[in-house]
Amino acid sequence: MEKREVFKIEGDKIVRQRKNCPKCGDGVFLADHKDRASCGKCGYTEFKTKKQEEQKA
Ligand SMILES: [Zn+2]
Repeated sequence: MEKREVFKIEGDKIVRQRKNCPKCGDGVFLADHKDRASCGKCGYTEFKTKKQEEQKA
């Protein structure tokens, strides 16, 4: 069984502030993570924190 919950919309307003993917453009949002946001479409990753302690190999 596969249950996908990408995001929840309460009523007609979006609770979380989501960013658009700069590569994919309007309509494609970055998936919200703890320290970063990433695009599930093109793989673009944007770090929220100022210092990048974690580096992806
Ligand atoms: Zn993208």
